[in-house]
Amino acid sequence: MADVKIKINDKEVTVPAGTTVLDAAKTVNVKIPTLCHLNLHELKAVNKTATCRVCMVEIEGRRNLAPACNTVVQAGMVIRTSTPCVVKARRTMVELLLSDHPKDCLNCEKNQKCDLQKLAAELGIRGEARYQGAMSAYPADSSSHAIYRNPEKCILCRRCETMCNQVQTCGVLSAVGRGFETVVAPAFNLPMAETMCTFCGQCVAVCPTAALTEINNIREVWQAINNKDKVVLVQTAPAVRVALGEEFGMEPGTIVTGKMVSALRELGFDKVFDTDFAADLTIIEEASELMHRIESGGRLPILTSCCPAWVKFIEHQFPELLDVPSTCKSPHEMFGAIAKTYYARKLGIDPAKMVVVSIMPCLAKKNEAAKAELKNDNLRNVDYVLTTRELAMMIKESGIDFENLVDGDFDHPLGESTGASVIFGATGGVIEAALRTAYEWVTREPLEDIEFKQLRGIEGLREATVKMKDLELRIGIAHELGNARTLLEMVREGKEQFHAIEIMACPGGCVGGGGQPYHHGDCGVIKKRVEALYREDRGKDKRKSHENKDVLKLYQEYLGEFYGEKARELLHTHYTPRELI
Ligand code: SF4
Repeated sequence: MADVKIKINDKEVTVPAGTTVLDAAKTVNVKIPTLCHLNLHELKAVNKTATCRVCMVEIEGRRNLAPACNTVVQAGMVIRTSTPCVVKARRTMVELLLSDHPKDCLNCEKNQKCDLQKLAAELGIRGEARYQGAMSAYPADSSSHAIYRNPEKCILCRRCETMCNQVQTCGVLSAVGRGFETVVAPAFNLPMAETMCTFCGQCVAVCPTAALTEINNIREVWQAINNKDKVVLVQTAPAVRVALGEEFGMEPGTIVTGKMVSALRELGFDKVFDTDFAADLTIIEEASELMHRIESGGRLPILTSCCPAWVKFIEHQFPELLDVPSTCKSPHEMFGAIAKTYYARKLGIDPAKMVVVSIMPCLAKKNEAAKAELKNDNLRNVDYVLTTRELAMMIKESGIDFENLVDGDFDHPLGESTGASVIFGATGGVIEAALRTAYEWVTREPLEDIEFKQLRGIEGLREATVKMKDLELRIGIAHELGNARTLLEMVREGKEQFHAIEIMACPGGCVGGGGQPYHHGDCGVIKKRVEALYREDRGKDKRKSHENKDVLKLYQEYLGEFYGEKARELLHTHYTPRELI
């Protein structure tokens, strides 16, 4: 494509034809503020609505200001981004956005992470707004266990719609109504709980205000901690330890496992355990199930089932393929099932007095924890799920000096883990962990090169082959639900034959989860978290799930055979076809 020469604030700029003014400005470090704009290069999605009008610029020869985000450069264009007229217009746009927006910033759910609030401060907008519009007539929606939707705080930027429709292809959120009546909501303004929303939380990850947030469970967790009659166990997912530090000003990908453990102890949890223990357990069960299917001529491919958003997606969208996913519960649910049986028995306490809290990068796990089919003996496996962000809020409100905490260590036995379980948090990690075990079981030989590099990468859809003696396993990997849809359509139409498939709903896997510190679709942040997980794996003494001594002891003392009767009762589940709404 030919290059185009333009001038921005008197600086000569040469960019390829087709570049927007906004992207051209970035090449010469000219900052133009944005709110609705979202360019997810690596996710191949762009929010082009240009609804907020905050990025307006002056273009010589034009009578009207133009939005930089969707104005394409033309040869010889002379652009100015900060003239008095531009700044005044920008300020007015933000004031108009604030005119029908609640002014409760002090107790806003976004907890000082609101882009509108930041922009207003940068533009010097304080105190009473000049304009006063009517608040949204639509009530807030707290119908689900995962996502809170507050139309009063929505600025109609429609970033969530881009994520939901272009990236995840779920089509749940879109503009409903016209003019001042417009609201971004499910069709017919249905409550989220009654839709096919997967609760992946990617809409929350890109919302610039608090129009979409998680359902906050901090209060319930404090109540449990302060209840003397309860024993409160906490478990932490692998992706949390490489992102939590960002909430305390650390670089993405800083590993804070030890500080996180110490902080959880200071918060008052009775035992601090690791979901990685249950990830190793998941691998034992999933690899056993794969071997069983291969040996018995059962249904192939097998699909990993540890992502509840992905499971809900297949239940709604591909009900004819429900015999494909592994029946394994997700690792944190397995943890809860073991905690309230095996561990409760070890402690000699009534499981009804035990409270299991999961710290997850995920909103879908809030929804999953409430599912009736994930109960044993009429008790939920997991009582509460907090996101990485909620954990950070608890640490901050307790006044804990996170940065200066001395590293702590997980309690045992449910805190023991291998490197295989750590990489669960990255796309391709679950299937790599499963193959580290399956390889040694199938070939009965030690695995020489433990890293299956052909399974790694950040591309949304990947295929690879893994040789195990005479067996050549074809593997499919997808992250983001749009890519999952493509992969599943291939399977349904018989276009591709795979032995095993891994699907994770979020970009990059759980590291890019909807409950993580806001990534706003920035793949640079997500990649740093992925690299940190592989670093943590390399630093572990044991890197294969079947080497986890405490998991093996659990089978000897309580579960019996791998994928045996007791294991299937506690650690496996079933799937339910759901409607397409
Ligand atoms: Fe949750 Fe991970 Fe699935 Fe995202 S990819 S919905 S964080 S389990």
